[in-house]
Amino acid sequence: MRNPLADLHIHSTYSDGLLTPSEIVKHAIQLNLTTIAITDHDSVSGIKEAIKLSQDRIEIIPAMEMSSNIGDLDIHILGYYIDYEKNELNAYLEIFKEYRLKRIEKIIKHLFADGIKLNFERIKSIVGNGSLGRPHIAEALLRDGYVHSINEAFVRYLGYHTPYYEPKKAVLPKEVIQKIKDCQGIPVIAHPGTIGNRDVIYHLIIEGIAGIEVWHPEHSKRQQQELREIALKNGLLMTGGSDFHGFRGSENQIGKYGCAEEEVQMLKEYNRTVYRKG
Ligand code: AMP
Ligand code: FE
Ligand code: FE
Ligand code: ZN
Repeated sequence: MRNPLADLHIHSTYSDGLLTPSEIVKHAIQLNLTTIAITDHDSVSGIKEAIKLSQDRIEIIPAMEMSSNIGDLDIHILGYYIDYEKNELNAYLEIFKEYRLKRIEKIIKHLFADGIKLNFERIKSIVGNGSLGRPHIAEALLRDGYVHSINEAFVRYLGYHTPYYEPKKAVLPKEVIQKIKDCQGIPVIAHPGTIGNRDVIYHLIIEGIAGIEVWHPEHSKRQQQELREIALKNGLLMTGGSDFHGFRGSENQIGKYGCAEEEVQMLKEYNRTVYRKG
């Protein structure tokens, strides 16, 4: 892995990360990163706090990570330089937030019926105005002693193949890509190496993604190389990030994965020329 200067994929307490946007910004400044993006799941609520604290000491790209799916394939789309204050976007995200809340409540009810007693109100209060997700249940299961690790929580209680699973709101990547573009954001396919289906990348190129996340902790060297080639051949932007959540026991750290200044400049250039911003 090259030494990254920019980490363009970080989760905060406004979704399933354990650090607040302010803690992330402080940490990134200490690490001498030039640029970061807080990319919460279906939420832009942490961006303002991060920008406020950054005060020109580090660049914060307004961003988010939208969930979508094609059947049972989970497809995450990052949106960079998003107009995060746009009313239409916030109304759209509100629908996801409500859906996530109901979904987590349902999972907790299924678990309750099997004698696993978690406190929904307590779990709900963690995210405030942000997005609730399965990792919040995983943390509660760990804290209350039902499991020994976050991974065990997913394997036994939260994964797709467990009896407690509830799907997220069904939304096609095409809709999410368009929504990001409507808000003058740059849509980038997140960690395509984890989807397990290369055709999806080509499908999403047709549907209008502008970039590929190449550097990610779950991508092997070989996958990085393949994804770089696909991006170069198709004239797509390349991004990278740690996908840091701050999970206990995880080796991952802010800035451990990311991209170089060159890729950030290409992203900026796209923003300037295509959207005439910045
Ligand atoms: P959700 O958006 O509620 O479906 O939760 C999905 C999130 O759970 C992903 O973005 C990851 O952050 C996390 N996740 C999924 N599987 C695992 C796992 N085995 N261990 C830890 N985190 C996981
Ligand atoms: Fe996550
Ligand atoms: Fe993701
Ligand atoms: Zn992520």
